[in-house]
Amino acid sequence: MKPYSPEPLTDFSNPVEAARLDEALRSVEAQLGRHYPLRIGSAILHREATITSYNPSNKEEIIGKVSKADRSLADKAIRSAAGAYKTWSRVPAEQRSEYLLKAAASLRKRKHEFNAWLMLEAGKSRVEADADTAEAIDFLEYYARQMIELAGRGRKELVSIPQEHNELHYIPLGVGVIIPPWNFPLAIMAGMTMAAVVAGNTVVLKPSSQTPVIAAKFVELAADSGLPPGVINLVPGSGSEIGDYLVDHPQTRFVSFTGSREVGIRIYERSAKVAPGQIWLKRFVGEMGGKDCILVDQDADLEEAARGIVASAFGYSGQKCSACSRAIIHQDVYDQVLSRCVELTNELKVGDVRDASCYTGPVIDQASFDKIMEYIEIGRQEGRIVAGGRALTLPGYFIEPTIIADAAPDSRIMQEEIFGPVVAFTACSDLEQGLAIANMTDYGLTGSFYSNNREHIARVKSEFHAGNLYINRKCTGAIVGVHPFGGFNMSGTDSKAGGPDYLFLFTQPKLISELL
Ligand code: NAP
Repeated sequence: MKPYSPEPLTDFSNPVEAARLDEALRSVEAQLGRHYPLRIGSAILHREATITSYNPSNKEEIIGKVSKADRSLADKAIRSAAGAYKTWSRVPAEQRSEYLLKAAASLRKRKHEFNAWLMLEAGKSRVEADADTAEAIDFLEYYARQMIELAGRGRKELVSIPQEHNELHYIPLGVGVIIPPWNFPLAIMAGMTMAAVVAGNTVVLKPSSQTPVIAAKFVELAADSGLPPGVINLVPGSGSEIGDYLVDHPQTRFVSFTGSREVGIRIYERSAKVAPGQIWLKRFVGEMGGKDCILVDQDADLEEAARGIVASAFGYSGQKCSACSRAIIHQDVYDQVLSRCVELTNELKVGDVRDASCYTGPVIDQASFDKIMEYIEIGRQEGRIVAGGRALTLPGYFIEPTIIADAAPDSRIMQEEIFGPVVAFTACSDLEQGLAIANMTDYGLTGSFYSNNREHIARVKSEFHAGNLYINRKCTGAIVGVHPFGGFNMSGTDSKAGGPDYLFLFTQPKLISELL
């Protein structure tokens, strides 16, 4: 097998690629409004109760209707996963990896189709959609190889002593509940699901209610790649209706969650409770929110820093957990960086992502729109709006990229996750103060430092408390295997998706010692 290397991104300036995407968009548009089933074991179930998924660029456009599970179906899904675990956990690691490689090959062939679904269901620009699909392919390719590595590792790493043969095996855990967010509806959903699966577990996948069609499409692709029934059980349903039930279930062995701090804490607490009949302590893997920042030193390349701030703050309308929502600028260059960011921001076109000239599209739904507009009003009180600040009168949930200047470090817009196209600026008097502001939130996900001062860079490397710290580059755009991703403090359980340790989280080591 050739070594892993990240999937190249599509060059849309090539008219052939642009035409392929347009064709895929037309084909996907012709499929809008279809119904998608639940998948429990080998049963493909169409139900009357559905979740309706809408296009955030156009509130009236229905993307699809996805059958919705109730508690009794959630229970069936857990039992189906438990049944399939008996055989799947014994399939050799190399063979399990093969399924991921097949799925990756199929996704690569169908990348423009998946890009089109991501544009329509999640409101991603074609560039952001393509990065999401490429990341999904990367997760499949990377975890397939990591599993083979892990399976061979236990035999190599033990200290040997005479008259004994010792082996360490990383065996799977059991049934996992997978709960992904909507903001990387393909990459994160597929990565979380297939990491657990390749490690020998079987899963119940409850996709986000905002993006259930993409999940249904991916699970169909995995089944078409030959994955046995019951290994992935798909149960769309509202978090509040079936989420607690799945988490609390005594046959659930682990929960892998990516989403907000509030829901993450709830699941963490609930999964710690031992249910009657449960014979293990559940494992919780949580990737949660962020309040990420870019810190700019007085001697930094200011043009690069301004471009880094704008790209990190407004790519996918700020709806990345890694997005820059605080800019902390040395007071000597504050005005210069701020005014350049305002210029760059005013050049960004916002609108329906089918229009290729739009840099970014809508926010995901009405609740997000209302929450972000509320924070913009808070920002108006706490600082000075110097770019954006308004909603657009278009048929979707569009908000102008917004910059709020002169925010106090402890203000709400500098402390709370907004998850939209809003960045707050503050000045610092020196590196000491800049670092103190950078580290003063409850989170610790991503951060960047722009500087040409080696001493300052060395200090920032050791004192800036972020899971993903970048020097002289933007704070978004982590690549699988290159930048393992995950944060500290309230950003999660310190795990690293797309990193060499990730699969350990879905295994337990078993030592076998035989006297010779
Ligand atoms: P969310 O509201 O917490 O939802 C995440 C998932 O949890 C959804 O599938 C949701 O289902 C489900 N859920 C809700 N209540 C539940 C319950 N009681 N029990 C079980 N599941 C429940 O988050 P989101 O809005 O989708 O995603 C945005 C958040 O994710 C942001 O905070 C962002 O920073 C974070 N994020 C973090 C990372 C990271 O790597 N650290 C990556 C991406 C996103 P429903 O949709 O049905 O409610």
